[in-house]
Order: sequence, then C-alpha cells, then structure tokens
Amino acid sequence: MRFDFTKLTRRRLLLAGTAIGSSLLGSDLAPAATAPAAARPARGLPRRGEFVVRGAYVLTMDPELGEIPNGDVHVKNGAIVAVGRALAAPGAQVIDGKAMICMPGLIETHWHMWGTAARNMAGDDEKTGYFPESRVLGAVFTAEDNARGVRIGLAEAINGGLTTVNNWSHNLLGPEYADAELQAHKDFGGRALFSYGYSRKTGQNQTLPLDDVARVQREWIPRLEGLVTLGIASRGPENNTIDICQKEWETARKLGARITTHMGTSEKAFQEKHGIQALDKAGLLGSDVLLVHDTNDSDEDFDRLAKTNTFLSLSPFTELRTGFGITPILRMLAAGVPVSLSVDTALLCGNCDMFAIMKAMQNIGDGLRPSEFALPVRRVLEMATIDGARALGIADRAGSLKPGKRADLILLRTRDLNMAPMTDAAHMVVQSAQPANVDTVVIDGRILKRHGKLSAIDTEKLVNDVNETMTRVRSEVARQNRSSADVQNQLPNR
Ligand SMILES: [Zn+2]
Repeated sequence: MRFDFTKLTRRRLLLAGTAIGSSLLGSDLAPAATAPAAARPARGLPRRGEFVVRGAYVLTMDPELGEIPNGDVHVKNGAIVAVGRALAAPGAQVIDGKAMICMPGLIETHWHMWGTAARNMAGDDEKTGYFPESRVLGAVFTAEDNARGVRIGLAEAINGGLTTVNNWSHNLLGPEYADAELQAHKDFGGRALFSYGYSRKTGQNQTLPLDDVARVQREWIPRLEGLVTLGIASRGPENNTIDICQKEWETARKLGARITTHMGTSEKAFQEKHGIQALDKAGLLGSDVLLVHDTNDSDEDFDRLAKTNTFLSLSPFTELRTGFGITPILRMLAAGVPVSLSVDTALLCGNCDMFAIMKAMQNIGDGLRPSEFALPVRRVLEMATIDGARALGIADRAGSLKPGKRADLILLRTRDLNMAPMTDAAHMVVQSAQPANVDTVVIDGRILKRHGKLSAIDTEKLVNDVNETMTRVRSEVARQNRSSADVQNQLPNR
C-alpha cells in the first residue's frame, strides 16, 4: 500500500497548530546545503564565578546533609564549596533564595535528542506510528537537522531544570552527524552522556561504528570540559546477535564508555530473545551497563540486574504511549534494581518535562499496588537526581548538593500560583512543579537561566531552525513518496 503523505501532512497541520509556523509552510524550501547557520548561544556561555544562594529550602539529596530550611549553597569556580546555614562567603554574588526550593539539577538517562526536531510526529495508526515515522524522517535528516534536534532539546531541558541528559544518539548516518551533535553539546554547556549509536545503515550483523566511537573519545571528549562523557548505544541482544554485542561491549569497556541498550519492550521480545538472560550468560551485565524499559521482563531478570548492579532507565510516558506496557516499577524496586528516569523521545511523548515524568512514575507506582503509599515522593526524587547520576557514572560530580561536587543546581519558585502555599518541599517538586516554575539553572557553576529566562540561548532562532527542518524534511519525504511497506522492511531504528 502506498503511503499517502498528502493526507498525513494535512492531518498533521491541523494537529500541529502553532508548532510549524504557517509562514514557512507555503514558502520555497531551502535545500539542506543552504540551511541557516547553526544557532549558537547568543552571547556565548557565561563565566563560572562565585556566588551564594541564600535562604532557600535546600533539598540536598545527600543522606547526611538532608533538607535544610533557610539554607545556603556556596559555589566557586564551578564547584560547590559549602552547603549549610548562614555561610560566610565574603565577596560572593548573592542569589536570593527566599521563597525558593534549591535542589540538584534533574538528570534524565535516555533521550533520542535528534528526534526533538520531529516533535509529535508519531501518528495515531500503524503507518504513521513512532517506529515507521522515525525511520522515514530520520533517513532524510542531515547532520545539521540532527544538531537542531539536540539544540532545541538541550534548550528545553535547561529551561525545565534538566541539567544532565543521556543523548541516546541513534540516527548517526555518518561521522559528521556525531560531530554536529557534539558541537551542540559544547555550545550549550549542559552535562551529558553522549551515547554513540547505530543507525539504519548499520546492518543486522554489524557492530555500530566502533572506530568512530574511538575517534570521538580521542577528538571530542577532551574538549568538553568534563561535561560530556562517552557511551555506546547498542542494538542489544534482542535486535542483534550476542556475538555483535560481545564486540561492542569489548570496545566500550576498553574505552571506558558506558553501554546502553533497549530491552524487554514486548512480551514477544522477552519470550523469543530473553535478552537479559543472554547478556547474563555472556557476562555482559554490570555496573557500566544501562538497560532501557524492560517493561516485559521477569522477576528473575530483575534479580539478575540487581545482582550485577546493572542500571535501568524508565520512561513512563513513552512506555505507556507506545504500548510497551505499564512500567513495573514496584517489582524492579523490590528486586533492588537501580532505577532512573528518562524522556526517550519528544517525537512520541511530546516534551521533556521531568516534573511530569516524576509525577507519572509515582502515580503508576501507587496505582500498581494499589496504595497511596507504594512509592513515596522522596524515592522518586532520588531517581531523578542522585540515582540518575549513578546510572550515568557521574555520581562523583552530580546528583546531589554536597561540597566537592560540581555545581549543577536549580531554584524553583514557591510563590507561583501552582506552587502556593509551599508545604512539603519534595511533594511540591514531584506533584506541583512545572518547567515554568524553574527560576534559576546552574550547570557546572555557570548560570544558564536566571529570573525565569535562559541567559545564553537564542530561542527564537532555535524555533525557526526546527520549523525549517520539519518543513523541508516532510517535503523531501513526500518527494520520495516512500511507502510504509518499504519502511517496515528496513532495519529497526531502536
Ligand atoms: Zn529509546
């Protein structure tokens, strides 16, 4: 059956509303080669200075320091130097923390950031659903299009208090795609794991381009100020052979790169492939491995993960939306699996609101038992902060407010309409907060959002760029007139 792109476009236009500027729709489409220059932060990244947040309700997420009402956090040259009450910090800039919650920046652990430039393109039927749609669109993305997705994703992340992401990059059609995405990370200054993945060009019996992973480690990582670390995003044993996994794991471990893969996304995958058992047998589980979803795996599998300290990343919105199932969070926690939270893809789930993700996770947990007390808010907060840092291997520098760690912190306003009256801080964050309540965002000591405004990002340009990308990409797909049957026969992009 041929794919009727005209219908799709008309339907999408109705649905998209303001997402695609109407002025762009009727205009001549710029070819990729003449696409606008890369959006860079408007005024470059701010310097790391010395400042003290004074008088905030500090949720340190550190078991010894706990929660400090009317607390201070002193930051110097990118590091936290003190956390407490009435700190002496002569000469430091003062940031008024009154009527604010101060907490570590939020951390997510699995996000296909390139797809943010195709926000909400997953449709409502089998032909236009997430998997066919992401394959069709991804195939015509240029390196610059990928980078635009990463840039608007990073801007949205920082705006919403997410200071660390795992860019699970699985549309790398050549080395230049990795370069473009890494340049975006460099320009925006957020903390990230860059998980170098496969693409639709990677054959079923091929490894992801391991030589290029080594090149990125050599050429890029030293230039990224310790903010970006390297990982690999493998197809894993449920979408490739265990021999290929062995080769990928071996190279990643040689490079000190973290390893991540999707797992247990359907009952069929579990029954036929039993990926966790295969990894366990081959000795491939461990504390440098981060599995994603696992919604259909068994309690025995969760025991295997717990025993090997293998991490899990859960994205409740996409797991629900795409039919992977209701995230079995309570069984995972009961087994002792280290769990963190993630966005997955705005192509499917629409945004990267980590507050909403936390709230969804808590409510799923309570609903599963069912009990109002099954999954407490402070446990969910750990998943989105310190446990996220552990999953990405950066708990020595991020995930809690503690002297010696790098300064990744956010301030949330408690006098906004949806945050008043301020009662229990952790409940305020998980149940009430939204990205609009994020007043201030600091990453590695740089103040990237202040008084509710991004300080170094030209958001207008980012929006224009992704509008141009999607207009051109959809036009290109229509030109190629690709059928969904063609698409189904391609390799899975997951
Ligand atoms: Zn994913």
